[in-house]
Amino acid sequence: MAKKPEKLWTAPADDALRWVRGTDLTALDQSATPGWSGKKADGEELMAARGPELAELQERLFAHGRTGGDRSVLLVLQGLDTAGKGGIVRHVVGMVDPQGVQHKGFGVPTEEEQRHDYLWRVRNALPRPGYLGVFDRSHHEQVLVVRVNGLEPPETWRKHFDELNEFEAEVAASGTLIVKVALMVSADEQKERLAERLERPDKHWKYNPGDIDVRTKLPEYLAAYQEMLDRTSTEVAPWYVVPADRKWYARLAVTELLTGALRSLDLGWPPADFDVEAEKARLAAS
Ligand code: AMP
Ligand code: MG
Repeated sequence: MAKKPEKLWTAPADDALRWVRGTDLTALDQSATPGWSGKKADGEELMAARGPELAELQERLFAHGRTGGDRSVLLVLQGLDTAGKGGIVRHVVGMVDPQGVQHKGFGVPTEEEQRHDYLWRVRNALPRPGYLGVFDRSHHEQVLVVRVNGLEPPETWRKHFDELNEFEAEVAASGTLIVKVALMVSADEQKERLAERLERPDKHWKYNPGDIDVRTKLPEYLAAYQEMLDRTSTEVAPWYVVPADRKWYARLAVTELLTGALRSLDLGWPPADFDVEAEKARLAAS
C-alpha cells in the first residue's frame, strides 16, 4: 500500500527548514526539498489534504479573537523577485477564509511613509487579535534593498538588526506568533521566470525593468540575506529558509509551517456565552 503522503516528511518541516546561524547560504541547493521524500504529485496531494485542517485552525483563531483572545499569527514572506511570494499567498493563504486574513505588501515607501520612521507602516499593518497577518516583503527590506542599494549609510542600516529584533520581541510579547519565511530561488530559475514574464502578456504586469538590476547584484543580495538570517533569526521570530525552485515544494513547506504554527497555539472553540439548552428551547418554541 502506498504511504500516506504526510509520512513522506522524513523530518518535520520546521526542523528541516529552521535557519541555523552560520550556515553558508551560498551552499544552499534551491531545487532541494528538505525533509520531503515524496514527489510532486504526493506533495500536491498532501497540500490539498491539509487545506481543511488549515482552514479550521484559522477559524479557531478568528473565533478566539472574536471572544476576547489576544493571539494572532504573522507570516512574513521575503524573497527576491519571482521567488514565489505571491504564489504562496494565492495557494497557501488562499486555503483559508479571507475575512480572517490581513494581507500587506511592502514596496518602495510612499511619500507619507517616508515622513515616518521605517517601522511605522509595519506597526500599522500588524495583525489584530484573531487574524492571520501576511507580509509580502517586510521590515527586513531595511537590511536588504536598503543596504544593497546604499539607500542609507552603514552606520544607520547596521543598527537595524538590533531594532528589528527588539521590534519582533515586542510583537511576540503582545500575543503574535511570528513565522518568517525566506524563499530562495536560484539565479537560473529566476532567469526563466523573468523570461516567462516577458513572453506572456498576462504576466507583463509583474515585470519590472528594475528586476534585471537586482540580478546584477545577486552576490550582494545573497550576502545581505546571509547576514539578515544570521542576525535576525531569534527564538521568538525564527527564519525558515525554503528552497523555492520547485514551486510545489515551497507551497507545501509553507503550508506545513503555517499549519504547525496554528496548531501550536492549541486553541479550542470558545465556549458559548449563553445557555445552549435554553436557546434550543426558545428556538423550538419560536
Ligand atoms: P514587488 O514586491 O515586486 O511589488 O516590488 C516591491 C519593490 O519595493 C521591490 O523592488 C523592493 O525592493 C522595494 N522595496 C520594498 N521595501 C523597500 C524599502 N524599505 N526601501 C526601498 N525599496 C523597498
Ligand atoms: Mg517584483
